[in-house]
Amino acid sequence: MSHQITTRLLRTGSPEFDPDTGIAPVSVPTVRTSTVRFANMAVHDEVLRRRRAGERVPSYGRQGMETHQALEEAISLLEHGTRCLLAPSGMAAISFAFLALVKPGDHVLVVDSVYAPVRILERSMLRRLNIEVTYYRPCAGYTSSGEVDTGESAAAISEIGALIRPNTSMIYAESPGSLLFEMQDIPALARLARHHNIPLVIDNTWGSGLLYQPLELGADVSVIAATKYLAGHSDVMMGAVVVRDAELASRLHECHYALGLSVGADDASLVLRGTRTLHVRLSEHERNALRVAEFLQQQPGIKRVWYPALESDPGYRLWKRDCKGANGLLSVTLDTRDEAVARRFVDSLALFGIGYSWGGYESLVSLVESSALAQHSRWCDEGYWLARLHIGLEAVDDLIADIAQAMHAAGLRTA
Ligand SMILES: *Cc1c(COP(=O)(O)O)cnc(C)c1O
Repeated sequence: MSHQITTRLLRTGSPEFDPDTGIAPVSVPTVRTSTVRFANMAVHDEVLRRRRAGERVPSYGRQGMETHQALEEAISLLEHGTRCLLAPSGMAAISFAFLALVKPGDHVLVVDSVYAPVRILERSMLRRLNIEVTYYRPCAGYTSSGEVDTGESAAAISEIGALIRPNTSMIYAESPGSLLFEMQDIPALARLARHHNIPLVIDNTWGSGLLYQPLELGADVSVIAATKYLAGHSDVMMGAVVVRDAELASRLHECHYALGLSVGADDASLVLRGTRTLHVRLSEHERNALRVAEFLQQQPGIKRVWYPALESDPGYRLWKRDCKGANGLLSVTLDTRDEAVARRFVDSLALFGIGYSWGGYESLVSLVESSALAQHSRWCDEGYWLARLHIGLEAVDDLIADIAQAMHAAGLRTA
């Protein structure tokens, strides 16, 4: 019988019963080791043979043992992939995917709403390696006059297609973006990538596997910052790269090996624990965020709410078509150009920690200056301040009351 993913996730890596006692722990033990021992040379040779044939058999500490393997299986399951490679952070996973898939002289298309540190990767490393990046406009969005503009997906795709050169070797996108939640038409991008025989790589941190499966939609590689919802408790950093295709898996594996990427067993264990409750946490984050988003939409002091699960959001149609749910992340354009007002709003929030990141149980806020959004072609509230909120697992009425009092304290009008 084939169970649903949420059921299977709870059992991934479940230890076998001890043949002597008939007992086994429920959770996967944390197996820390820097190397492994082989019973004899015949076993050693057999392990090496299987490794060379592409099997995941532990032969050294860097790749880890049962704990790591269980986590890789859980993430592969979430992403509908066949191979998962772990990295010490989400950013390390992104950099490693780039290094594995592009070479000097190549050209890469990257969506302009990309996670900001990717631009630093470009400036600090890709340029030095003579790899050129073109940032392209994502599919659906608001027009410069603020109208929702969703019907142009085909035109947008041909616009992206026109940027492809003979040396373009990869399309890299994040869907949705992590400040304005620009949705990508992944199936259309995948068709484009396939037509040109180049891989489509998607940062799926927002979807965390459960909400969105880029590999099912045609992407070739999915990258996740497990630091966020997978871990879920703001106490560990980790990244993962997931693929299906054997040839891509082998390219990624070789680069992963060469870079010496490795994660600790304790960290792997924490992320694995997070995957067990992922679906429960995500649905609560979504429920809370939707309530907050609906509240914020009615406030005159809020110019715009950015949340793909709202019908007014430009990404709504793609979200509805391709995603299984939403999470706790949303942004608001505050109806102010005054920095002091924006800062007072943030400082007056009592239940929202001021900080980057998201995906933990707690609510967070970060303030984004309009100029920091200049590279996002979909930003249409020039001069205004954006606050990104991560809606945590606190009682939602408390969060709404907190936002209302902070708006009041800052002089942003409430309904
Ligand atoms: C946080 C984040 C990353 C990077 O993950 P780290 O573990 O913090 O390095 C990458 N992509 C997105 C979309 C993120 O939100």
